Amino acid sequence: MCRRCFIVVDGRLWIPAVVCAGGRSTAITGKMSLSGRASSWGGRARLPSSTRTLTHESPIDVKPFIVRFNLHGDLDFFLRSGARGRRIERSLREKTAVKDVIESCGMPHPEIDLILVNGNPVDFYYGIASAANIELYPVGTKSTQCKEQRLQVSTTATFVVDGHLGRLARNLRLLGFDVAYDPRAEDRPLLCVMEHENRALLTRDRRLLMHAVVKTGYCPRSQNADEQIVEVIRRFNLLGSIAPFTRCIRCNAPLRKIAKAEIIERLEPLTKIYYEQFRRCAGCGQIYWPGSHFSRLQKRIEQIRLNSNS
Ligand SMILES: [Zn+2]
Repeated sequence: MCRRCFIVVDGRLWIPAVVCAGGRSTAITGKMSLSGRASSWGGRARLPSSTRTLTHESPIDVKPFIVRFNLHGDLDFFLRSGARGRRIERSLREKTAVKDVIESCGMPHPEIDLILVNGNPVDFYYGIASAANIELYPVGTKSTQCKEQRLQVSTTATFVVDGHLGRLARNLRLLGFDVAYDPRAEDRPLLCVMEHENRALLTRDRRLLMHAVVKTGYCPRSQNADEQIVEVIRRFNLLGSIAPFTRCIRCNAPLRKIAKAEIIERLEPLTKIYYEQFRRCAGCGQIYWPGSHFSRLQKRIEQIRLNSNS
């Protein structure tokens, strides 16, 4: 069995409290709550150093024991390649919050909707102190059991999107959803916007999704933007809330109908001749009209609807 040790990596304290059944240790990190205000997107700062999640009770040392996980839905997506499978084991040598054990396996807590320990529903802070069989369910599992003990919200329509998911942000705005997005934003301002504006975080950075302040979030499985939008619609039950062409793709502000006469000076000669319906962004002033690309966009949106409903 591996000895317990503490390693400082890149300014973080990594605490290998979990030892896998094969003898390799797995680092566990929890995160401190952010106290900064969401005053702006700017600035580049590292996240605070880590602490472990506290359980409901005081930690106690116990004899090593095995915890067996059974993963439902697509949660094995988060396991290391080569370790994919629905059943995994972890060896613990001290009482540990179930959230920490789950995340040490690579699964961010916002992806976990239901935890059953030996058949009983528990929250993320439940302390595991002896051998246990644990069932993990993602959001959207068809099972109707334990509705009251579900850990995630089933729907939300406001998001903050990681700077690496620009096309997803654009697609969500095209469908009318409120999306905060800045391609330059780093982790701290991203989390501040999420926390202070009560938005769901969309990111493929699993470590970011594991941060303690994240209540609602999702990691798109696909790297394809058209598939990602379908995933997000399904995850947050957005099919009935789609309202295309109602939000500015550039700045996220709502679009308002405007009379042609009010903006005619800003139009190109052919646009003045062929188009009558216009909308203007309440934020940046951008003018939109159903131009030559409109029917192509409509077809794309219809395809997204069909794929989300299948
Ligand atoms: Zn705008």
